[in-house]
Amino acid sequence: MYEKKTKTFRKLSKSALCLMGLSLVTVGVSINLNNDVIRIIPLNASNSLLPSFTANELFVARSPVLEVFEMPDYEYTIQSGDNLSQIFTKLNIPYKNLLSLMETDLNHLRIDTLQPGDILRFWIHDTAKNLNKLELEFNIASKVIYQRLDDGTYKFSDVDILGSWVQTVSVGNIEGSFSISAHKAGLSYNDINTITNLLKDKIDFSQDLRAGDRFEIVRAEQTVNGEFSGQSEIQSIRIEQRGTPITAYLHTDGNYYDNRGNSLQRAFQRYPTLSKKRISSEFNPMRKHPVTGRVSPHNGIDFAVPIGTPVVSTGDGVIIIVQNHPYAGKYIVVDHGNQFRTRYLHNSKILVKKGQHVTRGQPIALSGNSGRVTGPHIHYELLIRGRAVNPMTANIPMSISVPRNEIMTFEKSVAAYDQKMFVKR
Ligand SMILES: [Zn+2]
Repeated sequence: MYEKKTKTFRKLSKSALCLMGLSLVTVGVSINLNNDVIRIIPLNASNSLLPSFTANELFVARSPVLEVFEMPDYEYTIQSGDNLSQIFTKLNIPYKNLLSLMETDLNHLRIDTLQPGDILRFWIHDTAKNLNKLELEFNIASKVIYQRLDDGTYKFSDVDILGSWVQTVSVGNIEGSFSISAHKAGLSYNDINTITNLLKDKIDFSQDLRAGDRFEIVRAEQTVNGEFSGQSEIQSIRIEQRGTPITAYLHTDGNYYDNRGNSLQRAFQRYPTLSKKRISSEFNPMRKHPVTGRVSPHNGIDFAVPIGTPVVSTGDGVIIIVQNHPYAGKYIVVDHGNQFRTRYLHNSKILVKKGQHVTRGQPIALSGNSGRVTGPHIHYELLIRGRAVNPMTANIPMSISVPRNEIMTFEKSVAAYDQKMFVKR
């Protein structure tokens, strides 16, 4: 679509790249040290190989907001081992722009979630060389935009395309491990993780399943303009272990239950501490900045605690991010599977490593005052499907079964899912 001129830059030495510890998340992709280059692609709108559609059509396809579509000056696809400050240096974007971006991102922490394959788009001011706009594209349905304002700060916006969700049924027999068999049947490793995590109390996936045991899984996949975004959701599971079915069903409250309506998820606790603590700042997505008057959301809850207070994981999960951020300080993100994540900011000491499994109530850090704070506290966030919610009032798995007044609705959807799974037999 765009004319691509590939410029090859040599990578800076590793020590020069670690400014502020902004190294991007790297996944299980091997880094080729012999081919230690990054490629930045300038996009030239005036070139002959322009898109076959007009800018207007492009805008209609991608964004519901009425604005003039402007081509980015640069587009770059994140590769394993990349570092944001290094990319900014290559593009001669002032360091103060990066700091200002990080300040805005304190409330969202999306920059630290960048993975190889994600796309960055840069709009740069012609004369001042300031970064006017930065877009991060995580997949075709999800991107975020940082737009520079007159005072040099950035405004954050989240562009999520709903697309359509297509239901699919995957069936298969166990041959080798569950993970291999399920992958063969078309499930992603993310889906497989969700399943094994949900049923870990019911099935020992390394021991209990035998060749010939059967599984049936209903899931929904997101598409945007006919293209899969990579986002999916497990809706029901039936695994037959030598004739005995083990089941899970997603209820309208976002939680999973077995066919009798008993919760499959271990409960969360409300407080990220061993005992109740005083709240010093409430959750407030519309909080106004006292000086600028602009909306500066408070996406979590602050607990006033002395430095060194144990910070505990509020649910079972896996540590997915351990990071030192100029404004959020030493922070941790825990993935609880099934669309729940929690974040713990401003710690003095981290007690866990990336990839580590943790259980509810397990100390994961000692509180502190790292990052930009006015005093020591724990800033705690709960995200459901990527959205920050009030951790004190959100609907999180705390009960052990489907509420009595919802049982009829639940039974109806169980019957509907069962029909879908059995049809495939
Ligand atoms: Zn806070």
